[in-house]
Amino acid sequence: MSSVPERRKRSATTSPSPISSTRILLQCPDGVFPYLTPALLQICFPPDRVADVLLLGLAVRDTCLQPTTYHDGNKRKPRGYNFSSTTKVDRWMLPYQRVTVPTFDYLQDAQAAESTSSSSRNDQAAVTMTNQHAMMWTANGRHALTPAVYFHAAVGLASHSVVPLFDVGSTSGSHGPLSANGMRKRTHTALQRTTQWRNDFVSRCCTVPEHGTSADVWAPLNMVREDAAGRVPLPVEGTSHSQALWKDQLSDILNSGHNGLSGIVAIGWESLEEDRLGSLTNLRAELPSNMTLALLSTQTLGQILEVCSIGHNIAIGTNLPTKWACQAKALCVQLPSPKNAKRVKTVETAECNAVLDADGCVRLRPTDNNRDVTTHPWFRDRRPILPDCQCLTCRSHSRAYIYHLVCAKELLAEILLFIHNLHLLLDTVRLLSNAANDDERQLLYKNLLYQIQNTNTHNI
Ligand SMILES: [Zn+2]
Repeated sequence: MSSVPERRKRSATTSPSPISSTRILLQCPDGVFPYLTPALLQICFPPDRVADVLLLGLAVRDTCLQPTTYHDGNKRKPRGYNFSSTTKVDRWMLPYQRVTVPTFDYLQDAQAAESTSSSSRNDQAAVTMTNQHAMMWTANGRHALTPAVYFHAAVGLASHSVVPLFDVGSTSGSHGPLSANGMRKRTHTALQRTTQWRNDFVSRCCTVPEHGTSADVWAPLNMVREDAAGRVPLPVEGTSHSQALWKDQLSDILNSGHNGLSGIVAIGWESLEEDRLGSLTNLRAELPSNMTLALLSTQTLGQILEVCSIGHNIAIGTNLPTKWACQAKALCVQLPSPKNAKRVKTVETAECNAVLDADGCVRLRPTDNNRDVTTHPWFRDRRPILPDCQCLTCRSHSRAYIYHLVCAKELLAEILLFIHNLHLLLDTVRLLSNAANDDERQLLYKNLLYQIQNTNTHNI
């Protein structure tokens, strides 16, 4: 109990946390910082240097599933797995701003469960959502997460902010696509369930005094509306019903009177196919400026830039720096200064010396088509990945060395690439976030977008 005020005090001193900034919400699988040892973490990303731009995301699904045992005579035998509130977060993560969520990938869960279901359990629904629980597909099988279990597991992680359990409104199942009526019903059920679970969470915050003030609540808001054709963005011009769905949810949340409410999470935003940016801009405009707008998941660098271009106080969930490192890719976008941002077409490409992919990355892993490692442009390149980058990797190692590590399948290659990729991504977000005004931000955004949309021109 006494640890809560201490944690709050520490966070207040180490993380001034400017509320106007746009931040990366880095997904930390299993409650640990990806790739880095505590010592490297402190050297590469000191908490006070990244407080303005980095949040760490902990998912209950990944972090809190613990093995359970039972007594058989004098022996303890394994019984299975359960969500537990006794999980401790790595102490090296404590000085960073942290956010707890149920899971980062509801949709992937649904798809994984669907494929398993169709192969082995055709007669059962793939993902079961009832008012009592949400089924989570985990590395140790499917497990039910009830609002009560989720609450205790989530507050046990002692994060600064918590996202209550929500229903994303997934329409996948083992019985094929839903009809228009089925879709409408499913959407309404998802909205009701999300509201019910959010209220449940807030009332538990109020009735469990030791946790009541420990974390801010980021309320989930479903970014879908009923439609026979599937998911469409909210709100859509001229469709008053969808406006009503979206605004109803928001006014319900804002009028709930919970004084720990400090953010809104746009659920399902990443799966929208139309007018994602417009939907988000409208939502941001409706929120009080001191309230964070959060997205749990983004799939591409283009999406991150898109969200950054909107403006202030947005948390962007992603695992891209980790994914790029795992795929042996080095982020190589050039950060323009506000002064030269206008020179979009003539911007220097810093002699990347290799083709950039759609995420602004250079691929380092030899392909099946070309196993001759000497043909890669970085094979004898003694320059750092980016000459202007101040990360540990670029200060100490050459492109040729990193490429050699990739070819030798050394884990160090991924670690060095992760450090560089996260560092450069944070610098990119900081650049857009600190733009003097909206015009300057748009210029910087277009400059960066041009780089990843015209990748062929960078083939020097
Ligand atoms: Zn670097």
